[in-house]
Amino acid sequence: MTQQAVTVIGLGPMGRAMANAFLDRGHRVTVWNRTPSRADEAVARGAVRAATAAEALRAGEPVVLSLTDYAAMYDVLGPAADALAGRVLVNLSSDTPGEARKAAEWARRHGARQLTGGVQASPSGIGVPGSATFYSGPREVFDAHRDTLEVLTAADYLGADPGLAALYYQLQMDTFWTSMLSHLHSLAVARANGIPARELLPHLSATAASVPGFLEFYAPRIDAGDHAGDVDRLAMGTASVDHVVHTARDAGVDAALPEAVLAVFRRGMEQGRAGDSFTSLIEVFARDAR
Ligand code: NDP
Repeated sequence: MTQQAVTVIGLGPMGRAMANAFLDRGHRVTVWNRTPSRADEAVARGAVRAATAAEALRAGEPVVLSLTDYAAMYDVLGPAADALAGRVLVNLSSDTPGEARKAAEWARRHGARQLTGGVQASPSGIGVPGSATFYSGPREVFDAHRDTLEVLTAADYLGADPGLAALYYQLQMDTFWTSMLSHLHSLAVARANGIPARELLPHLSATAASVPGFLEFYAPRIDAGDHAGDVDRLAMGTASVDHVVHTARDAGVDAALPEAVLAVFRRGMEQGRAGDSFTSLIEVFARDAR
């Protein structure tokens, strides 16, 4: 069966993995990258090197974009805007929901259609089972290209709003980066106490493995606005985080991260939530957003 011709613009680690996955599955792949040498590997494996971004746009459908952010897309496609009419852009670059919506409108004004994607995988997870990508944008465009996109990862379509995939992606990243930094902070305190990361690994992994149980327990309560202090109380949590801050300081480690957490707990206390669960802090966050 003849596979669809696809274009990949942006050949960082992610775009290179995507070009390779399409080549592995027999697609004709056209590539373009600002720094041309990053296309060499894909070209050696059979990809076609486009001389310009406009040429890359015309060569394949869909046109997959894997750039640092949406600003890079304007830098690349702005000068090639005349070649956009009738094209399908699948923007797998990470950015905010607002930027994804603006870009979809920009593409529409130039006669192109955009699917937004949020890839939940590292480059090694591209083209192998077990990873997924959030997509949003026009349903018919997604349906037409689903099989091709599933060469990269499983596809999870969320709806027509081009911002949705970016939103779900950023929600994942909010959890990911704060959790990874908190782990890193624990490791810094451990190291200051002479404990190497490998030794702490099983303990931190056990803590991480307990998280889904907490999420499942608290999610329905949070949706119901039920912050009963029957299992945990904010006053207890505040004392506990204070101990974490002092353990870090005593070890000579920068305590800015747990101090920021402590500040949120204290705001909850000041608002009279001492007897509620720590989940009542969601109202502290909501209040700050207004
Ligand atoms: P990189 O930032 O390493 O690569 C980005 C690409 O964008 C390069 O091809 C680079 O070109 C190009 N680029 C950046 N700025 C410009 C510009 N102003 N004009 C033209 N080209 C530009 O990112 P990755 O490949 O790692 O990731 C790509 C996207 O995928 C990002 O949005 C990232 O957040 C997302 N992602 C990445 C993951 C990962 O683990 N790597 C995981 C999940 C999502 P040049 O080579 O010339 O510098």
